[in-house]
Amino acid sequence: MMMGEAKTGRSGSHVVVVGAGIVGVTVALELRRRGYEVSVLTSAEAGSVDAASYGNAGWLNPGSVVPHSMPGMWKKLPGYLLDTSGPLRIRIAALPGAWSWLLKFVACGATKARVQRIAAALRPFLNDSVARHMALATAAGVAELIEGKGLLVVYPDEQAFAADALGWQLRRANGVCWTTLDRAGLLALCPGLSEDYRYGALIEGGGHCTDPGVYVTALAQYAQRRGVRFLTTRVDGFAVASGVLRGVSHAGGVIPCEKAVVAAGIATRELALALGDRIPLFSERGYHVQVPAMAGAPSVPVMMSDRKFGITPMRAGLRAAGQVEFAPRGASPDWRRARVLLDCLAKGLPNMTARNRNAVQRWWGNRPSTPDCLPVIGFSPSVSGVLYASGHGHLGLASAPWTAELVGRMADGEHVAEAAPYDPARFRHFRI
Ligand SMILES: Cc1cc2nc3c(=O)[nH]c(=O)nc-3n(C[C@H](O)[C@H](O)[C@H](O)COP(=O)(O)OP(=O)(O)OC[C@H]3O[C@@H](n4cnc5c(N)ncnc54)[C@H](O)[C@@H]3O)c2cc1C
Repeated sequence: MMMGEAKTGRSGSHVVVVGAGIVGVTVALELRRRGYEVSVLTSAEAGSVDAASYGNAGWLNPGSVVPHSMPGMWKKLPGYLLDTSGPLRIRIAALPGAWSWLLKFVACGATKARVQRIAAALRPFLNDSVARHMALATAAGVAELIEGKGLLVVYPDEQAFAADALGWQLRRANGVCWTTLDRAGLLALCPGLSEDYRYGALIEGGGHCTDPGVYVTALAQYAQRRGVRFLTTRVDGFAVASGVLRGVSHAGGVIPCEKAVVAAGIATRELALALGDRIPLFSERGYHVQVPAMAGAPSVPVMMSDRKFGITPMRAGLRAAGQVEFAPRGASPDWRRARVLLDCLAKGLPNMTARNRNAVQRWWGNRPSTPDCLPVIGFSPSVSGVLYASGHGHLGLASAPWTAELVGRMADGEHVAEAAPYDPARFRHFRI
């Protein structure tokens, strides 16, 4: 766990963490706890609006063991290319850069056996994520930012729930517990819920963060109090001699270090290429809209199963987030996606007023996603001393504490057998 006094045995051993999103900051805290000298180099300050960690939906969902690639998905892809308002949008211009990623993505979830393996590999990141975040938030003095009241998934009716049977089987097989609810049960948790939803499941072990951006900032401040140094600068390369890391390079020169952890979100792909590693991250772009709190709002986060988006009660209002867009790298955001989310929110919560609609804040960010739905955690195959902690896709907030623990154990020299599915070397033959 993250708490407790820093050990002193590794003082003098300097680790540079690249990136101050939720993953980088959590890794830095864990390395510091283990006694390392830690510096975080980040192109934008912790909690910045530019990072995926700022604008996510805040879900800490043990039920997310179900991968986004599931059997039969390939049949839906042609529709996604044509439908501009569906839950997954692929811009035609993205295809040249994304096709090999997409093929592997579809293949990784093509059979029941494959999704069972993915779910089992995701389980340790998610099963006690709420408890781990509560411990972190408490240590950082922001316990109020993590709630553990459960997560609600709503369906039009019981038949629609039954049609999702494979997903619920995967959850049950991985220790996820839930209570099914009828319309009255749903209304007790979300009084303003549309009549379109009459059945659902409350995932009891789930929780959420009520302000992900503020949370990352608070964790970074806590890390600073514990002796982690932060420098806002863009890392542009690495100093390597005879295949061994010597330092991390930025505009101000090279910072010497014994180890580096690359936790730069979507930018990990380019930094890895500079090291000679292939980490095929593609951005599954996501958007959010946030509106002021309203009558009938849910007391727990709600997933609309049919429209594939979640509504999260945040400190500053209601956030609707989710859905996926594949766009060419560097392309401008398509704010029609935010409009789609706003329309979905209004359909889910018909009480929404013009006041809510007119006070909407909107945001977009890059999910750093791998084509096999698993994160990339482990040593670089090319350069000794470099570790990766990235590729968490839809699950980076929930997964950060367990990721940090794995990285800490690896940095200590432990052979972490259970981390084999996340080995960066698995992509060494992937075309990017
Ligand atoms: C709409 C949406 C909803 C989501 N909902 C959830 C959810 O409910 N639950 C969940 O668990 N996850 C969710 N996610 C996913 C989650 O937000 C991400 O997986 C997670 O934030 C990734 O964190 P990160 O630290 O790896 O990357 P980021 O948060 O993107 O941070 C990357 C960091 O690297 C830095 N950096 C980049 N390049 C360089 C460089 N060259 N030099 C130095 N620093 C650099 C950046 O400044 C930044 O500090 C969602 C994502 C989106 C977009």
